[in-house]
Amino acid sequence: MSPRKVCLLAGGVGGAKMAEGLAAHDDVALSVIGNVADDDSFHGLWVSPDIDTLTYSLAGRIDRAQGWGVADEGHRALETLDLLGAETWMSLGDRDFGLHIHRTMRRGRGDRPSDIARDVARAFGVKPAILLPTDDVVQTRLRTTDGRWLSFQEYFVRERCAPEIREIAFSGMDMARPTPEALTAIAGADLIVIAPSNPLVSIAPILGIPGIGEALRAADAPKIAVSPFIAGKVVKGPADRMMAALGLRADALGVARRYRALADRLVIDHADAALGAEIAAEGPAPQCSDILMKTQADKARLAREILDLAFAPVEAVA
Ligand code: GDP
Ligand code: CA
Repeated sequence: MSPRKVCLLAGGVGGAKMAEGLAAHDDVALSVIGNVADDDSFHGLWVSPDIDTLTYSLAGRIDRAQGWGVADEGHRALETLDLLGAETWMSLGDRDFGLHIHRTMRRGRGDRPSDIARDVARAFGVKPAILLPTDDVVQTRLRTTDGRWLSFQEYFVRERCAPEIREIAFSGMDMARPTPEALTAIAGADLIVIAPSNPLVSIAPILGIPGIGEALRAADAPKIAVSPFIAGKVVKGPADRMMAALGLRADALGVARRYRALADRLVIDHADAALGAEIAAEGPAPQCSDILMKTQADKARLAREILDLAFAPVEAVA
């Protein structure tokens, strides 16, 4: 049988874990639509953290302890920048710098960001397609309770998610155009998976690109989301505090509400089984599993369960 076409919507660390799980299966042809809204310029270089986390993870080059960045990394370039008086709160390693230099050079000569991401992934030996939702610049902006607008990295890295958030906006979103690759992957998918990524700053800026949300709603494929919350807590990152600050429930039910118009099913942790009835009332059918992915085996097992949810009922008969 030809492989199932799976299209995954993914942010950085949580998204990459799900991507690795799906990529572990030979009966899957995987396309990952990543998030570009964390992108920013540092030291004159264009950095695309979530896309690089996907690339490094799927290439087996990720720093497993951190979940991001390259393994066996050094920071001598950053030391030089520090000596020269540059702001160095954004941790960028030496190996990583090489990729940012290359990306920036190619963007400067007018290459499409999607083509660059594709070529980089290919050079790193990544088999799944890593797709951008847009080739335009769309950036997350967060307004704090003290009235400042911060870029995502200023909030996340420089200020360590300390400020409370009042509002999230995406600059450039209105004018952004979807990439034909993303639209084709969505329309042609046998299964669409929404990774356990931050709903507000990883998945929202993908869904918000004009044309992407419509394409998802028009797609025939089953749509299965995985909760980034387990027992009312995030595995890491600020999604819990962001959701709470915006008056949303910071748990699997809050995730169900975010994805009610999109997901047919929501995979939640066994620990959240008690939320099942309320989740079902929102729309997505809840499915309990172990959704903490620590090892490669965990990732592959969860991915297999998702594939079975989508495809097994028919195959079981055959
Ligand atoms: P970022 O761009 O690096 O912040 O990564 P994502 O947005 O893709 O993922 C962040 C989310 O992943 C957080 O809300 C975490 O709770 C969630 N996450 C991380 N690891 C796991 C895991 O093993 N299982 C589940 N269910 N969620 C996870
Ligand atoms: Ca991110």
